[in-house]
Amino acid sequence: MPNGMLLRSLFIATISSNRFLLIPSLNLLTFLAKPNRSFLFNVDRNPVLHYILKKTFYNQFCAGETLRETGACVKHFRDLGFKGFILTYAKELVMETPAKASTGLKPGVEVKEAKVANTHDKYIEDWRVGTLQTLDQIGNGDILALKTTGAGPTVTTAFTTGALPPKQMLDALEEVATECQNRGIRIIVDAESQAFQHGIGTTTLHLMRKFNRNGKALIWNTYQAYLKRTPAVLAEHLDAAAKHGFTLGLKVVRGAYILSDPRSLIHDSKEDTDAAYNAIAQGALRHHIGDFGASRPFPDVDLLLASHNRDSLLGAHRLHQQRLAAGLPTVQVTYAQLHGMSDDVSFSLLQERGVDGEAPDVYKCSTWGSMGECLGYLVRRAVENRDAVLRTRDELVALRREVGRRLFSS
Ligand SMILES: Cc1cc2nc3c(=O)[nH]c(=O)nc-3n(C[C@H](O)[C@H](O)[C@H](O)COP(=O)(O)OP(=O)(O)OC[C@H]3O[C@@H](n4cnc5c(N)ncnc54)[C@H](O)[C@@H]3O)c2cc1C
Repeated sequence: MPNGMLLRSLFIATISSNRFLLIPSLNLLTFLAKPNRSFLFNVDRNPVLHYILKKTFYNQFCAGETLRETGACVKHFRDLGFKGFILTYAKELVMETPAKASTGLKPGVEVKEAKVANTHDKYIEDWRVGTLQTLDQIGNGDILALKTTGAGPTVTTAFTTGALPPKQMLDALEEVATECQNRGIRIIVDAESQAFQHGIGTTTLHLMRKFNRNGKALIWNTYQAYLKRTPAVLAEHLDAAAKHGFTLGLKVVRGAYILSDPRSLIHDSKEDTDAAYNAIAQGALRHHIGDFGASRPFPDVDLLLASHNRDSLLGAHRLHQQRLAAGLPTVQVTYAQLHGMSDDVSFSLLQERGVDGEAPDVYKCSTWGSMGECLGYLVRRAVENRDAVLRTRDELVALRREVGRRLFSS
């Protein structure tokens, strides 16, 4: 890690681990992220504001505002020893008020394409172009992460009813998936607010059924372990994978929308969320989730553990290695952390050696887009840091130790 990046990480970790600094920063970011700000508070138009945010929060957590900046960031992380890079285009829906939860269709309900006029939708077209541009900045072995709400109101309206998006969006998704298949790039579909998640999950299932053939996942769906209903959704998707013979791309996260989503849908405590996360991760590694792997065969699963939680990740890695060493059935597993967060955890994983003598597959995940487009993403990172006081303190200690070591050795 270059010195400049180390010092910036130390600066951000100092803010993140101190409530008196973090809360005002979070409030400021939330204020700036509201749409239609006047010139003074418009991060894309006010050059002074833009400069300050760029040199601090933006560069810490985001890959770049232009293709050139983003390409340089992707190369930089490859040079640091990561297996590859996960890149997403930041454009997403910014909500003025917390999203209302979808009433949600019952599992198994047949879904139909949204009833919207099949005219050419500019938002979907912009999203398609932005996504294909993102694809041009990564290469073989990398991963493209998709935030589907960025495709605008016709798509989000469909998602709120649990339906598939309009045909123009499905065509765009299939075009992107085919392009990725040809270039050796895999795809993550991000989980978003609960208002849209039922439709997003339905759409991803539709894509996985088509593209996750030949025993490998081209596409991963994201499962938010903090939701009480996730085990039921996962059982439904495992059932679909078993019945239709495709590989389930199982990306597990804890969940990033605790501020805006209805609290009643989310586990009551952090401990319950941790237990739920570990149960899914370890269940997949043991080939045993609910009935699957007991009274029913376990379908093909490709696991991606997206987290900064050292215990969850190192625990999963050790279990995986134990099973491989004992010749027991297990799944393929990939690990990912966000750009600018928990580098100590990423590098700890990279230093592990498996039964084959190789380091595990670890990816860094970042987002690109204009400052304005990235603000919603930056707010979520600040909220996460606010809620992960212990983790950010550990990070701060690790960063201070490294700065001290470099000063001493020079
Ligand atoms: C590569 C990558 C991709 C990601 N993609 C997505 C995505 O598509 N969608 C998405 O929603 N998130 C995504 N996230 C963010 C993720 O959901 C978490 O918010 C973030 O990683 C923090 O959780 P953690 O596993 O790192 O661990 P920790 O820091 O140990 O856990 C923090 C998390 O625990 C949960 N939590 C905290 N307090 C409570 C409480 N009182 N009750 C219940 N639960 C609580 C919250 O989910 C919180 O974010 C992604 C993260 C990574 C690393």
